[in-house]
Order: sequence, then structure tokens, then C-alpha cells
Amino acid sequence: MAAKIYYEDDANPEALRGQKIAVIGYGSQGHAQAQNLNDSGLDVVVGLREGDPDVGAARDAGLEVATVEEAARSADIIMMLIPDDQQAKVYRDSIRPGLKSGNALFFAHGFNIHFDQITPPDDVDVIMVAPKAPGVMVRKTYVEGNGVPCLLAIEQDYTGKAHERGLAYARGLGATRAGVLETTFAEETETDLFGEQAVLCGGASELIKAGFDTLVEAGYQPEIAYFECLHELKLIVDLIHYHGISGMRARVSDTAEYGDLTRGKRVISPAVRAEMRAMLEEIQTGKFATEWVLENQANRASFKALERLEAAHPLEELGERLRSMMKWLD
Ligand code: NDP
Ligand code: MG
Repeated sequence: MAAKIYYEDDANPEALRGQKIAVIGYGSQGHAQAQNLNDSGLDVVVGLREGDPDVGAARDAGLEVATVEEAARSADIIMMLIPDDQQAKVYRDSIRPGLKSGNALFFAHGFNIHFDQITPPDDVDVIMVAPKAPGVMVRKTYVEGNGVPCLLAIEQDYTGKAHERGLAYARGLGATRAGVLETTFAEETETDLFGEQAVLCGGASELIKAGFDTLVEAGYQPEIAYFECLHELKLIVDLIHYHGISGMRARVSDTAEYGDLTRGKRVISPAVRAEMRAMLEEIQTGKFATEWVLENQANRASFKALERLEAAHPLEELGERLRSMMKWLD
């Protein structure tokens, strides 16, 4: 079933009239969303920790700033734009106490709601507006008169206006200029985790290392292996990004395309696909979420150790040296 997509005319800006929006956090998404909403004529207050160095930057951008508690208490709409692993604690300590009936809690990612780290009371709306781009792009495209696509999901509709409120918020970001796709907290969270684990981060970095190790173990020079298996990946990904997989194949040599068509399925073998399904199941059952929440409670002992081990891979030191030869990469 194709996703439902909303545009500018589908949104009703009146749905947020007279409502104050607290944007909690002024990082990647926070700085962009607060400024876009403010420039769209909405009533915005930025909630920041006491002594946060970003207070000055937010004020310089013409925004009202308050502590997280004050901002949340004074607002009708509260958007959580601090790191996902901090949200449950900040919600409990600084947001929940000031929540009022009919308020709306907004998120830009579904993890904390879908996996029950935050359990809002029944008498608020729970809404996700998730830009499909980093904050700099959310801001840049808005200033240029465009926007980035967003996902919209409603977890809880107490007021009966959650959908309208979500769409009006997305409009304030500029997202309805590009398209707002309807989804659910479950779908956004599970696909986001799966994508980063299997393809974008986990899959891609292991694919690079496996290719590099194979060449180096066979006696080829590591520098050559680096260029083949890591550096050139960007060229291919850019072609896929702009032209799709067939478009990429049309733009590489016929030799490369024949190798792709006949050998690719041996890399991503049926066993690898089975493993992907197993990883997806760990996400769906909450096994991964529980592991990650406990890992944070354990002060990230495994996380930090794994980072250290991975940083010792020969690719890292070599890559640093080779990238310093390529001044244009700065
Ligand atoms: P950032 O890491 O950029 O946000 C950091 C902000 O949160 C800073 O203002 C920081 O303040 C503040 N902060 C951190 N810890 C606390 C705390 N304990 N109490 C109060 N404030 C705190 O986050 P992102 O913008 O990357 O992510 C925000 C949300 O948006 C997440 O849910 C994420 O999944 C989602 N998202 C992110 C995207 C992205 O491109 N980054 C894209 C789509 C969704 P200080 O400067 O003082 O540390
Ligand atoms: Mg993501």
C-alpha cells in the first residue's frame, strides 16, 4: 500500500493558533525547527538547561529562551529535540510535572514512545513529526523557500485534533512544501533501527572492512585496498542516490555492471538475508531496545569497549593518512 502524502493545502495553520510551542534542545534539529517555526509566525520558546552555551545563540536568532521546566510548563505543544537516550529522564524530571490536559507531546523519532521509555498520561496528544534530513538541511531548505520531507504519526489523539496539529507543525517547518508522509510510531522506529543496523551503518561499515581485509590478506597493498573498498564507495552511492540502482549500473562500465549482476548476490547471500530477518525480529520484539537501554544504564561499558576495538582496525590509521593527502576532503 502506498504511503499517504500531505502537502501545503492539506494543512490548517489555525490548528496551532494561540498555542505556544516549546522546542526542548537547540542541537541539530532544535536550532532548525525553532527558527523555522518562529519564522512561520508561530509562538516558540526554546527550553535549555541552565548554563547551556546555546542560550546566546538562540537569543541571537531572536528566539525566546527559558529553562526546560519553564518552557514546557508554559507551552501547549512540547517538542522533544534532545538526544533519544536523554529524553526519558528529562521527561520525568522536567516535563511531566508541568504537563496539562490537552497538551501535545511531539517527537522527531519514535524510540522512547514505541519502546515505553516515556509513557505519557492519557489526556495529551502524542505526535511525531520527523524530518528526513539533518537539521542544517531543515533550516537551509526553509530559508530557500523549500522544505524537507517529513514523517507524521499519531500515537495518541486525546483532543481529536492531533492530526491537524501535527500537520500544522510540519507546515511550520516547511515540510508540507516537500511532502509529509503518514506513518506510525512502530513503523518509523522499527524501520529506522533496521536501516541503520543492517544497511546504512552496520551493513556498510562491515562490508567495507570485509572487502579491505580480503584484499590485504591476499597480499595487496593496503593503500590500494582503501581506495577500492572505501574511498570509491561515495561515487557509487552518489550515483544510486541521484539515479537509482539501474541508473548507477548504466553509468559504470559494462565490466563493473556484469560483475555486480553476477556476484553481488554471493555477498548478500541467502544466509545474510536470513540474518537480516533475525535482526529485524530483535528490533520488533524489543530485545534490541532493552539491550540499548540497559547498556546506557551500565554507563555504556560494551559500547565504549567496542568503539575502542573498532578504532584499532588498520583501516583507521591508514585512512587518516590517506585522507590528509586529499586536501579537498576537508
Ligand atoms: P542533538 O544531539 O543535536 O541535540 C542536542 C541538544 O540537546 C542540545 O541542545 C543539548 O544541550 C540538549 N541536551 C542534551 N542532553 C540534555 C539534557 N540531559 N537535558 C537537556 N538538554 C539536553 O540531537 P538531534 O537534534 O540530533 O536529535 C533530536 C531528536 O531528533 C532525536 O529524537 C533524534 O532521533 C531526532 N532526529 C534527529 C535527526 C538529525 O538529523 N540529527 C533527524 C531526524 C530526527 P547541550 O548543548 O547543553 O548539550
Ligand atoms: Mg535515523
